[in-house]
Amino acid sequence: TEQTNKMRVVMLPWLAHGHISPFLELAKKLATRNFTIYLCSTPINLTSIQKRITQEQSLCIKLVELHLPSSPDLPPHRHTTNGLPPHLMPALKSAFDNVIPQYSTLIKSLSPHLVMYDFNQPWAPTIAAEYGIPAVEFITSSAAFVSFVLHSFKKSGIEFPFPEIQLRGFHGAQFRRKFDQASREVSQKSRPFEAFEKSFKIILFNTFRELEGKYFDYLSILTEKKTVPVGPLVQEIVNGTEETEVMNWLDKKSDSSTVFVSFGSEYFLSKEEVEEVAHGLEISAVNFIWVVRFPVGEKTKIEEALPEGFLDRVGARGMVMEGWAPQAQILAHSSTGGFVSHCGWNSMLESLKFGVPVIAMPMHLDQPPNARVVEEVGVAVEVEREEDGRLNRYEIAKAIRKVVVEENGEGIRVRSREFSENIRLRADKGIDELVEELVKHCLERN
Ligand code: UDP
Repeated sequence: TEQTNKMRVVMLPWLAHGHISPFLELAKKLATRNFTIYLCSTPINLTSIQKRITQEQSLCIKLVELHLPSSPDLPPHRHTTNGLPPHLMPALKSAFDNVIPQYSTLIKSLSPHLVMYDFNQPWAPTIAAEYGIPAVEFITSSAAFVSFVLHSFKKSGIEFPFPEIQLRGFHGAQFRRKFDQASREVSQKSRPFEAFEKSFKIILFNTFRELEGKYFDYLSILTEKKTVPVGPLVQEIVNGTEETEVMNWLDKKSDSSTVFVSFGSEYFLSKEEVEEVAHGLEISAVNFIWVVRFPVGEKTKIEEALPEGFLDRVGARGMVMEGWAPQAQILAHSSTGGFVSHCGWNSMLESLKFGVPVIAMPMHLDQPPNARVVEEVGVAVEVEREEDGRLNRYEIAKAIRKVVVEENGEGIRVRSREFSENIRLRADKGIDELVEELVKHCLERN
């Protein structure tokens, strides 16, 4: 409509691939509905974003450069958490906080209708408000995880209403330890949920009702805002990308015969974990593509990280890639029949969209509750760990075989295909709901 024609939105995602990517996909959806998006990130990040935008989309998606101060702590040419050793995360966050003056100038000169910001920049809505501009938070994590954390802070002592995602055993203990530490740090500040509280009337989640309805309904009560599910926003598959070697390799495998193994852009396996995963893959006797990665600046030869003779023994059955794989393309390929995953939220949504069942190996943070969510809806099997949290090769092999080959995994395979079909049918229901909300709340202002 003529009204939405005028809608200018500034987007400010956190500097991580798993955040920039859903913001970009949301930008593409809004671009087809007569919005103009100003997507802000560093020049290096924008170079890779540019490759995912068609010429037509670029008419409505403007890329805006934010320059980080140079920091002796941060590796040059890296402006995301991708490959960043965990101890450098605070340095990246503080470098990003340094763009506040640039952001402020931008808001002043563009005077957008709306800002969409990420969890890590509570200053974004504050500055927007100074210019009378509303800002809404777009949360790229699961509603289950966020509701679990928010409940723990706000209603301590009261049982979480969804015991099905309650963490037990090793993950439960790990979560409680981290949570207690965070509570101690947070209690010194006056407003731990500043970013939420400042979201203008609504909060967006990259999820959908059939998957997480009860969690974001509960979040609506906890936050006293309307929670709008806009997902699943998943990277679109573009034909003719460069990485053809792995796709050619997959072409030669039979349907649903191969597992894709990846632990996301931020987690690095320990030496022991590499060993167990390698042996687990070997014992499973299933084809695999495994993306192995090391922190930036850490020189490790891939052959030396793997068990001796591993590559020779698995031969044509396995492919090991270093660093980065075209994950969405691989999951969309008909030869892929399972995803051994750390259960990052984007990975889970991609799995659901492409109908690939999950062999869940959550490591930390939001991953254990994410694993509970996909297992609950019947598209995943979580790998059993030792009591002390160690991985066990036989349990890995068992879960892979169940999901990909054994008869007792048929229900999971069927359910995955059904989910994929449901997602295809629901199309952009969430985006339509969002546009309606935005028109109602934000456009009437102008
Ligand atoms: N990804 C990819 N290739 C890789 C590793 C990751 O394309 O080798 C993409 C993946 O498709 C997903 C994102 O990076 O969209 C990772 O996000 P997720 O939330 O799953 O995990 P995180 O990296 O944030 O832990």
